[in-house]
Amino acid sequence: MLKLLKLSHLSVRYQFVILMMILASALVCFYSAFTYYNEKAEYAEEAANELKTISQVLENDYAALIMMGLPSASIELMRKWKSFPIIQHVDLKDANGKPILHFSKLADPHVDIQTDKPHQIRVVDDLFLYEDIVKFQGEKVGVVSYAISNQKYEVLLSELTQLIVLSIPVALTFAIFLSLWLQSIFVFPLQRLIATIKGITQAQTYSKSIVIDESDKSEFASLGRHFNALLERMNKTLKEVEKSKTDAQGLAYYDELTGLANRRLLTEHMEYILDISKREHRHGALLFIDLDNFKTLNDSRGHAAGDDLLKQVAESLKQVFRAADTIARLGGDEFVILSGHLEDSEEDVINQIHSLMLKLRHVLGEKFIVQGESYHLTASVGITTFPSMAVSPEILMKQADTAMYRAKEAGRDGYRFYQPDMQAVADARLQMETDLRFALTANELELFYQPQVDEFGRILGAEALLRWFKVDGTSISPADFIPVAEMTGLILPIGEWVIKEALGQLKKWKIAGVASDFRLSINISPYQFHQENFVESTKHLLNESGVSANNVTLEVTEGITIKDIQSTINKMEKLTSLGFKISMDDFGTGYSSLTYLKKLPLSELKVDQSFVRDLHIDQSDAEIAATIIAMAKNLNLDVVAEGVEEESQLTFLSQHGCLVFQGYYFYKPMPAKEFDDLLFGNVIVL
Ligand code: C2E
Ligand code: MG
Ligand code: MG
Repeated sequence: MLKLLKLSHLSVRYQFVILMMILASALVCFYSAFTYYNEKAEYAEEAANELKTISQVLENDYAALIMMGLPSASIELMRKWKSFPIIQHVDLKDANGKPILHFSKLADPHVDIQTDKPHQIRVVDDLFLYEDIVKFQGEKVGVVSYAISNQKYEVLLSELTQLIVLSIPVALTFAIFLSLWLQSIFVFPLQRLIATIKGITQAQTYSKSIVIDESDKSEFASLGRHFNALLERMNKTLKEVEKSKTDAQGLAYYDELTGLANRRLLTEHMEYILDISKREHRHGALLFIDLDNFKTLNDSRGHAAGDDLLKQVAESLKQVFRAADTIARLGGDEFVILSGHLEDSEEDVINQIHSLMLKLRHVLGEKFIVQGESYHLTASVGITTFPSMAVSPEILMKQADTAMYRAKEAGRDGYRFYQPDMQAVADARLQMETDLRFALTANELELFYQPQVDEFGRILGAEALLRWFKVDGTSISPADFIPVAEMTGLILPIGEWVIKEALGQLKKWKIAGVASDFRLSINISPYQFHQENFVESTKHLLNESGVSANNVTLEVTEGITIKDIQSTINKMEKLTSLGFKISMDDFGTGYSSLTYLKKLPLSELKVDQSFVRDLHIDQSDAEIAATIIAMAKNLNLDVVAEGVEEESQLTFLSQHGCLVFQGYYFYKPMPAKEFDDLLFGNVIVL
């Protein structure tokens, strides 16, 4: 029962309808009952008044009959009572309660009329009973009791019943309309709110909001506004979450500095592209790009400059490669490009790469401005193709890296395609790097000296040449290990050791009484030369050794002119002002222009041995050698010919004006001890 009364299992709409109907029905019933009792009381009062009047009119007749008992009076009274249609029954009694006269229209004429109090109506069954006191000259002489029919009352009752029967449907209809109206006020806004919220949560479009009339001051509008505020907050939070999610993804897949793909994204793309290329028998390439001499810029001008350049390079790469390609930065100055546009044949890929490399060279050749200074850039590129060359991203990457090293070894600023035998070379190089580190600490390095002589073989000076004798007895040529030392930066400690050792030896010879104009040449690698502190540290080593810079020649190669020429000139000037002479080694093999040559404060050119070697066979080599000698004379530079092995070479060179020679024809590089003997021993110098 209680459960039935509990309406919460119904929707608010139905609760409203039911409550309204109950209310309306209750109102109708209450009104009817109220009217009924009201009417009944009114009717009783009316009847009492009427009977009272009848009593008053007939009071003398009653008194006469009670006191005198005349039969004619009885008949007269009976007749009078009869003439009042409402009277159904009358009992007249004397003061002692003795019946005097009795009149009745009722079915049971012997009914005893008893009332509690005179002058008050009492209802018994369908009769109204009334009692009055009969007085004569102010004295009570008897009592008259009436019973009158309540027919009028019954009519009233049936009228009321009709009223109820009619008004309940009206009331219910009214209740329905009323509840509909109330629903429009309370339920419909609530339903709209629910529908909107449902829509938002189902579609998960939290950027939407509920439309609310500005002027609406209802609690529903307020609820809507609060909900909108909640949505806004939620939307903001979701956006923040989304942002941090994409940020995290960005960090996971992209290089923070350049915005290019990182190793992870590259590997994923590689797996995907390799898969397609294998399945569809189509071809692509992986390019490993390493900027040449980037480390020098980074070390000399700081990381900010390095970062600036890397960002610019990243932009340039985007110009060169297609949108379908994945351009990634692995860290440092290493960039990798995965060609995402697969070709039908490997030949097509290679052709594509050739033209891309031209474009890359052109783009990198444009000036980069780093911290206000222009910077010329070159890169070494290693390329491998797939699917023929590799089966996995790791192998592909290793191959491109190996090919890149080959490009570096081949003089940088170029590109190389991977060839299977390259791997063995790469592995050997790695081994050499490890061994070289050890060599430095294990005193495996030694300086040999090769005399530089005049055309008669008289010793004018010597070139210090590095030798690496391993403990196992094997020796490695500097032509093999110097490039590795350069690439790994090991050239810096090695180069410093060479300068220190050479100057130390020079000091010994000086003490031993070598000629005052004796010159010792020391090889300086470009990487070493470009170190910020090169001049300072060389000066320091010179001071430590106690020899004069006038006896020392620093041999540089044309490679140093690739870099910012002005700073190269400045450095050279500082060195020459200290007393050093500077010689351009292997001249003719590089690409230094005559303009540069004129600008550099050089004292000497060394004709590269490749021109000397074949000058008696190859006419063009002979011409080059002769031109270099003539050019040196023109520029007022000393000239040294290296690699002189035969007399004919010596004759040719000296005929063309070369005065200093170095080569096996005279002497091979030798240990210091041997050189000592040569200088001061029993060897007779002609
Ligand atoms: P380089 O400075 O041009 O040295 C001359 C090279 O020619 C030396 O080779 C020398 O042994 C060789 N040579 C001299 N005369 C003849 C000849 O008549 N015939 C032939 N076939 N060769 C001759 P080496 O000692 O093997 O050095 C090779 C290169 O390694 C040097 O070329 C130089 O660039 C570099 N190097 C050697 N020592 C050092 C060093 O201490 N520091 C640096 N940075 N580089 C060094
Ligand atoms: Mg040299
Ligand atoms: Mg040389």
